[in-house]
Amino acid sequence: MEKIYNYIDGTVQSTGGSDWFDVYEPATGKVYAQAAESSPDDLDAAVEAARGAFDDWAATPAADRARVLNRLADLVEERTEDFAEAESIDTGKPLSLARNVDVPRVAANLRFYAGAAEHFASESHAMESGAINYTLRQPLGVVGCISPWNLPLYLLSWKIAPALAAGNTVIAKPSELTPMTAYLFSRLFSRAGLPPGVVNVLHGTGAGIGQQIVDHPAIAAISFTGGTRTGETIARSTAGRFKKLSLELGGKNPNIVFADCDVERALDGAVRAGFTNQGEICLCGSRLLVQSGIYDEFREGLVSRVRALQVGDPNDAATDQGALISEAHLEKVLGYLGLAREEGGEILCGGEQVRPDGRCADGWFVAPAVIEGLSAGCRTNQEEIFGPVVSLMPFDDEDEAVALANQSRFGLAASIWSRDIERCLRVAKHVEAGLVWVNTWMVRDLRTPMGGVKQSGMGREGGFESMRFFTEPKNVCVRYD
Ligand code: NDP
Repeated sequence: MEKIYNYIDGTVQSTGGSDWFDVYEPATGKVYAQAAESSPDDLDAAVEAARGAFDDWAATPAADRARVLNRLADLVEERTEDFAEAESIDTGKPLSLARNVDVPRVAANLRFYAGAAEHFASESHAMESGAINYTLRQPLGVVGCISPWNLPLYLLSWKIAPALAAGNTVIAKPSELTPMTAYLFSRLFSRAGLPPGVVNVLHGTGAGIGQQIVDHPAIAAISFTGGTRTGETIARSTAGRFKKLSLELGGKNPNIVFADCDVERALDGAVRAGFTNQGEICLCGSRLLVQSGIYDEFREGLVSRVRALQVGDPNDAATDQGALISEAHLEKVLGYLGLAREEGGEILCGGEQVRPDGRCADGWFVAPAVIEGLSAGCRTNQEEIFGPVVSLMPFDDEDEAVALANQSRFGLAASIWSRDIERCLRVAKHVEAGLVWVNTWMVRDLRTPMGGVKQSGMGREGGFESMRFFTEPKNVCVRYD
């Protein structure tokens, strides 16, 4: 049985209490590793190490911090296949997706913020009255980075990289469901030149070590990506301490297809947006709004494409859809499909549990589903399912499309499909979301702000937004008459 250890003060180590929890391979439904269950003592040791490392790391020239991040990116890239295999085993996602998306993005995050370390700048404001202000951007100290299971190292590195680039030291906690790649990553830190204590990785449960990180008085800020309910818990727990918070939360994203779109392109986009990574991406377009004039044609094209998606062993190159993350999540997704039927929806394809032959017979697979006939306000159309489930809804005109899109407590992302660019710009302006794609989905430029409105989060990541989050601005005003 493989063991997954904490990384504290520059060394891989077991927990003080030596408690372990099981880690499952979703594609087989079997335990394949055990990870350290961190204790409060482990957290104290990690915080002490991070505090001890802070002054030197914050004073390290930006070019040197950048060199370390680039070296870490090199080391990950050299091990792309190992990281991809580990990520696919831990999450159930197709190996090809881990190889082509997850791991390259980890390296890209590290390189991007290596560049940002050197390019980040602050402002100065000259006053006619004979004074000049300049803004110092100083690192916060020890920061907590907490990430979910769907894009494990992709999202953890998206936090750790800017935190380090800005001169902070880090306590990182991956999801207990997917600890493996964070562990493999931590084993590269010293080789990349990261001094002991600069990044510490603690494994364990959200309610346990996750909450302790949030509550720890010496941790200055929390960068969190995960569910809206957990985000609310973290916001409540930190309110009294006024801890700096970045919350990237859930979504129920509309994909709006107008009759004047390029239908083939929109269909390809809708399938990608609905089902990539088994629909387990916060940006997935799970509400598919289609203009009445092409609704029937679009539904037919969609259902035939979704039926053609191959569900099965993540190692198989032909697989489009791997396993869902856990048995509990499989039950949740199947539960929502039952609810959709109760709410009057018709499941046009998929929705049943799949039991592939061979080694994956006990894995947690579900056939990708398309539903229609549900009201916009029903629970299936309002709650985040976070699985391979897309709900189709017709609309007549632009105003109705915008109203339906905005009928949600979430506001993370939206896609608009139309050849009428003025319409696209109008709808992009009125739709309530932090990110809008026009005639595409999930094209990501790392310089752009990433985050949501309403219950999809608070604050933005990406580009210099992350550098701003991980620094405190201090204005210095100098009089010079
Ligand atoms: P959770 O909110 O359950 O968990 C996210 C992380 O927080 C995990 O590491 C979890 O640990 C930890 N955690 C749980 N409870 C606490 C707590 N009380 N204090 C501190 N940490 C805690 O989300 P999921 O892992 O289920 O991820 C899916 C969710 O993430 C979806 O809602 C999805 O939309 C959202 N998401 C948002 C993104 C965005 O950018 N807006 C991107 C990707 C996902 P553990 O897993 O060990 O319990």
